[in-house]
Amino acid sequence: MKILVVEDEVMLREGLVDLLEGDGHDVVAVEDGLSAVEVGTTAPFDMVLLDLMLPRLDGIEVCRRLKMARPSLPVLMLTARGAEADKVVGLKSGADDYVTKPFGVRELLARVEAFGRRAEQAPSPPELLEVDGLSLDLGRCVGVRDGEEIPLTAREVGLLRWLHRHRARAVSRAELLERVWGLSPNLETRTVDVTIANLRKKIERSPSDPRVVVSVKGIGYAWGPGA
Ligand code: CA
Repeated sequence: MKILVVEDEVMLREGLVDLLEGDGHDVVAVEDGLSAVEVGTTAPFDMVLLDLMLPRLDGIEVCRRLKMARPSLPVLMLTARGAEADKVVGLKSGADDYVTKPFGVRELLARVEAFGRRAEQAPSPPELLEVDGLSLDLGRCVGVRDGEEIPLTAREVGLLRWLHRHRARAVSRAELLERVWGLSPNLETRTVDVTIANLRKKIERSPSDPRVVVSVKGIGYAWGPGA
């Protein structure tokens, strides 16, 4: 599995990386909450091991933002021993399960394996969309136009998924920033425009006359063909 480890204590972080890599997993580790949201909403992961107490953004908020952007991403929260309230808050924030620190190596690996099995047993349904002569396979992060495969980033897929899910209306830049990037909507919103401009170059027949991701004056963007 590809696993994102979020832990600020260096010894524990390195220990987790060694342990999981030793068990055959592909691991990316970050040490603070904001990096976790950035990395976790940009690259595809099979699961996240998330510490609760983190600098820059706590685990609860990280979990909330990751789940907004990737509802099906499994999150295993690491909490301090006996902190019952933390567990409850963690699970309310969307975490799928928790492990209390200090945990045994075997216990952790068993939990990670159980996560993997759960993911295999409940394969997500294919997310296939057809729009303006473009076929999109959101689960596999590819588009096909005129027989050509177009690789899409996880962020681009997140954008397309959100716009399609809310195709009955226009979506603001602030909403996209919050829901797809997991960032505060008060931040500068040029990021959204840059990403959409790049996406249009990849998937639109004519990027200057877009039919898949259309602009809505005064609001933001919308899924092309409408509801
Ligand atoms: Ca910590």
